[in-house]
Amino acid sequence: MSNPQDTIFAKIIRREIPAEIVYEDELAIAFKDVNPQAPVHLLVIPKQPIAMLSDAESEDHRLMGHLLLTVKRVAEQAGLTNGYRVVINTGEDGGQTVYHLHLHILGGRSMQWPPG
Ligand code: AMP
Repeated sequence: MSNPQDTIFAKIIRREIPAEIVYEDELAIAFKDVNPQAPVHLLVIPKQPIAMLSDAESEDHRLMGHLLLTVKRVAEQAGLTNGYRVVINTGEDGGQTVYHLHLHILGGRSMQWPPG
């Protein structure tokens, strides 16, 4: 697993590589997914380099709540008034590919269940 300080998302936070950033505050940043799986596909990430959900600690509770409320804010900003899906792929079986915690926001079409 890669060091969360060195992931592509850490580079986006440090503005070392470009991204279409749609929201930023002191704790989090949101940007468009480069390979969208829905008409709207955004990623919300903490600035703190937590590799994955299972690495979050109880002292991160404020940050974790902030990330969910940021999802809500960013989804509203994107006009997703008819609903959306929030996904946190975690670890190998979860299909995680970038080891910096991120919340996918998928919207603009009707989602299927179960996911593959
Ligand atoms: P996951 O598979 O849950 O780890 O999701 C990683 C996501 O990051 C994928 O949906 C990728 O398309 C997306 N991604 C990878 N590199 C970039 C990038 N440079 N800018 C925006 N999104 C990216």
